[in-house]
Amino acid sequence: MEKRVTIFLFFLILNVFSVKGQVSYLEQRKVMVKSQIQARGINHPATLSAMLNVPRHEFVPKDQKVFAYSDRPLPIGQGQTISQPYIVAFMTQTLRLKRSHRVLEIGTGSGYQAAVLSKIADSVYTIEIVEELALSSKNLLQKLGYKNVVVRWGDGYNGWPEKAPFDAIMVTAGAESIPQPLLDQLKLGGRMIIPVGPHNAIRQLILVEKKKNKIIKKNVMPVRFVPFTRDEKKNKG
Ligand code: SAH
Repeated sequence: MEKRVTIFLFFLILNVFSVKGQVSYLEQRKVMVKSQIQARGINHPATLSAMLNVPRHEFVPKDQKVFAYSDRPLPIGQGQTISQPYIVAFMTQTLRLKRSHRVLEIGTGSGYQAAVLSKIADSVYTIEIVEELALSSKNLLQKLGYKNVVVRWGDGYNGWPEKAPFDAIMVTAGAESIPQPLLDQLKLGGRMIIPVGPHNAIRQLILVEKKKNKIIKKNVMPVRFVPFTRDEKKNKG
């Protein structure tokens, strides 16, 4: 009898702790959305809801989990970073996504931004140039049940012609100029958001709108981003 009581108490305590852990991550997300995102003017309901629901702590390395909901970018290994929550929300809102949209992301990294996009759009195609990151984000997204995200390892410069055209394109690595193949793969009426500027400097987040006879570009925010790199071997072939 005593043994049963001990076992019962053990599981009760275990349960309380794990529930507490989850609540605290959710609580941290609520605070993050309110104080970092809504406070800075993000008001697109689907973006706010995605930021509230995607468990950002799952996408950062173990030793960074305590900082997962801090107001800054974090290292994710391979010299790369996961963007600050506000930047993720800002770029997402700027695309004006709809449930029916097909989105292309360049720079999967941890997979976090792809997960946020997948909560709002119909499908997300995302390309990562670092093989280790492509593999780990693919596995993680699968484990967490993000069924409408497809990850591919490769150089995103050439986009994903087989799945084009896209309603929206998001580039999450800083490019020196806008890759022409990405412009070509954007649907008429589509929107692209991309950080552009010289490496090791402040870049501009540019919103590109593809209209019938013209392409409209607007600088929407100065930002810092890890560089958009090219796979020289692959591109030569
Ligand atoms: N969106 C990511 C963060 C991106 S960091 C997240 O939510 O975690 C930028 C990523 O772009 C890095 O992982 C980097 O390896 C990748 N990258 C850089 N150049 C690229 C290219 N040409 N094609 C695909 N990915 C690229």
